[in-house]
Amino acid sequence: MSRVYNFSAGPAVLPEDVLREAAEEMMDYRGCGMSVMEMSHRSKMFESIINDAEKDLRDLLGIPDNYKVLFLQGGASQQFAMVPMNLFKNRVGDYIITGQWAKKAYQEAKLYGTANAVASSADKTFSYIPDVSDLPVSENADYVYICENNTIYGTKYKTLPNTKGKTLVADLSSCFLSEPIDVSKYGLIFAGAQKNVGPAGVVIAIIREDLITEDVLPGTPTMLRYKTHADEKSLYNTPPAYGIYICGKVFQWLKKRGGLEAMKEFNEKKAALLYDYLDQSRMFSGTVVKEDRSLMNVPFVTGKEELDALFVKESKAAGLENLKGHRSVGGMRASIYNAMPMEGVEKLVSFMKEFEAKYGK
Ligand code: PLP
Repeated sequence: MSRVYNFSAGPAVLPEDVLREAAEEMMDYRGCGMSVMEMSHRSKMFESIINDAEKDLRDLLGIPDNYKVLFLQGGASQQFAMVPMNLFKNRVGDYIITGQWAKKAYQEAKLYGTANAVASSADKTFSYIPDVSDLPVSENADYVYICENNTIYGTKYKTLPNTKGKTLVADLSSCFLSEPIDVSKYGLIFAGAQKNVGPAGVVIAIIREDLITEDVLPGTPTMLRYKTHADEKSLYNTPPAYGIYICGKVFQWLKKRGGLEAMKEFNEKKAALLYDYLDQSRMFSGTVVKEDRSLMNVPFVTGKEELDALFVKESKAAGLENLKGHRSVGGMRASIYNAMPMEGVEKLVSFMKEFEAKYGK
């Protein structure tokens, strides 16, 4: 068996311990004679898997009791619709546009009411986070929406926006569990699992109880109501059971590694290795303003398209996979989620040094 260093933005690298354990349990989960994939979601065995996963997630994030944890499907993109369908009372949402994912959410909300772009970094190709200390928040806004870590452009909010008392809704897909957060500052958090916590097919929503109501937009399908899933503890219908089981293992792995404070420290060290190199390189440069840099997604360029393409090709041959930048921006992007080991980033940086020595002036 040989494994590569996988810098994919998602689906992405998962902890080897988790994969190994899941492989061991594949045919016979803890003596029950079947795989979790084959198990009824109504069984006692699965009930304890989902309950333990929720408990561990609550411990990791310090989720207050007045928040529900929901394991949903439809990816993060489905949340772009569920948010307005469930939270629109005045049918007004204020959106901060920091990249494609925020923009998609904003456009989706327009299908159901008024979506206002109250700030944007589109003027400089989303290479920074706009000033969010004094936003023109709409008086009748039902919420203020952010994408907290911008997977494609590699920016991250370092301080949350001043929502002037409005509910904060945040897409945390690409920074979920990478560092501690104060859940009580948000009304609703959601994250697709396929970056930091598990396989595609699971999306986790953490929602304050007062936002879970029957007062949703007319015509909202049963499956797209938070209340449906909250009332049934994520078991209204067959959930993405195997994915939830893997998420649970990742939560356990995070706890064993010392929780989110320890993870933050580790992620900062890992990212610093790469950013420090980028800052002194004569060939490569980062594309994001320093103060808004993401710890998870690091885009960089040489400034020459042919050289970028050569880098992607040669790095792949060296066992460093998926370093090509997103199709909308080009260049390179290294996604260095929780499960990317330090050695992966060390290998990447030494490969970049060799590449620079070989092709630089
Ligand atoms: N939000 C962010 C920040 C993302 O990075 C992505 C996917 O990469 C999405 C939303 C969309 O997720 P999904 O493909 O699960 O719908």
